[in-house]
Amino acid sequence: MGAYTVKLKERREVAESTMAFLFDKPAGFEYAAGQSADVTLINPPETDAEGNTRAFSLASAPLDHNLMFATRLRDTAFKRVFKTMPLGTEIKIEGPFGSMTLHKKAARPGVILAGGIGITPFRSMLVQATKANTGHQLILFYSNRRPEDAAFLADLQELAKQHPNLTLVATMTGKDKSQAAWAGETGYINNEMLARYVQDLAAPVYYTAGPPALVAGMRKLLVEAGADEDEIRSEDFSGY
Ligand SMILES: Cc1cc2nc3c(=O)[nH]c(=O)nc-3n(C[C@H](O)[C@H](O)[C@H](O)COP(=O)(O)OP(=O)(O)OC[C@H]3O[C@@H](n4cnc5c(N)ncnc54)[C@H](O)[C@@H]3O)c2cc1C
Repeated sequence: MGAYTVKLKERREVAESTMAFLFDKPAGFEYAAGQSADVTLINPPETDAEGNTRAFSLASAPLDHNLMFATRLRDTAFKRVFKTMPLGTEIKIEGPFGSMTLHKKAARPGVILAGGIGITPFRSMLVQATKANTGHQLILFYSNRRPEDAAFLADLQELAKQHPNLTLVATMTGKDKSQAAWAGETGYINNEMLARYVQDLAAPVYYTAGPPALVAGMRKLLVEAGADEDEIRSEDFSGY
C-alpha cells in the first residue's frame, strides 16, 4: 500500500455517460486484478460535501501498461472535475485495497455476476486471466439496461471470441428503450438464466460487485440457486 501522484494520460467514453480514465502506472505500484484504489483530486476548481476522494476499482489488468478507472459521469463536483480536467493533470492514488481477487485453483470454474459499472474489477480479472493464460473456465453474466449503457461490451465480446475458456452472457433489461440492435439475452439475471449456462451450480467460485443493493440481490439469488455461500466473493461500491 502506498500513495502515488499520477498524470491523466487519456480519457475515453466506454458507454453512454460512462468514461474510462487512463494514467501512467507508477513504478512500485503493484496490485492484483479485482482490487481498488482511492483517487484524490489535487486542488480541484470545485468541490462539494463528499470531498475530493472516491474509491474506484482498477479496471486495468496488472499486465496492462496503464492504470485505468471507469465511472458513470453523474453530476457531482468530483465527476465534473474528473471529466473536464486537462490531460496531464496530476491526481493522487492510494492503494491497492480489497481482497476480491480471482481464486488460485484454476481447475475450479469462476462465475461472475456484474451489473452496470460493477464490471470494472471483472474487466481487470478477465483481461489478466486471459493474458496470463491461467486456464480458469470463466462465465461472465453482465446485466445492463441497454447495450448503450454496457461499458467495455465490445472489448468483452472480442475477448470471449478469442478465448474459449471465457463465456460472456450479456443481458439487457430495458432493450425496448434502446436504438441498438440486440440479439442476446434479455431480462434480469435469474435462477433460470444461471441454470442454462452453469451445469453444476454448487461447483464454481462466484463473484459480484456494484452498488450495495445489487450485490445483496445477487448474493440472495446465488444462494437460492444452490451456490455455496462461502464461495461468493463480492465488493460493495458503497457511495452509489
Ligand atoms: C471498493 C469500491 C470500489 C468502487 N469502484 C467503483 C468503480 O469502479 N466505478 C465507479 O463509478 N464507482 C466505484 N465505486 C463508487 C465510488 O467510490 C463513488 O461512490 C461513486 O462513483 C459515486 O460518486 P459520485 O461522485 O457520483 O457521487 P457522490 O458525490 O459520492 O454521491 C453522494 C451521495 O449522493 C447520491 N447521489 C449522487 N448523485 C446521484 C444520482 N444522480 N442519483 C442517485 N443518487 C445520487 C449517492 O448515492 C451518494 O449517497 C467504488 C466504491 C468502492 C467502495
